[in-house]
Amino acid sequence: MPLCLHHVQWAREIPGGFHQCGLCGELVAWADVYPKPEDLTEDFRSRWKAHEATQVRAPVTAPGAAAATPA
Ligand SMILES: [Zn+2]
Repeated sequence: MPLCLHHVQWAREIPGGFHQCGLCGELVAWADVYPKPEDLTEDFRSRWKAHEATQVRAPVTAPGAAAATPA
């Protein structure tokens, strides 16, 4: 359903810090919803940000850390 607006009122919080459109089922981000979150209330924005902040990030590895010996 490519024509879905992903209206913010359909967006729901799902585990992992993501939001899902309740109508089409797609994962939606800050930039995908309608209307723009900038036009919404401060309360809405802080709730969205707070949930997004719980996102699980992939662990960062340090490749080449053992190859620092000079030739
Ligand atoms: Zn949608």
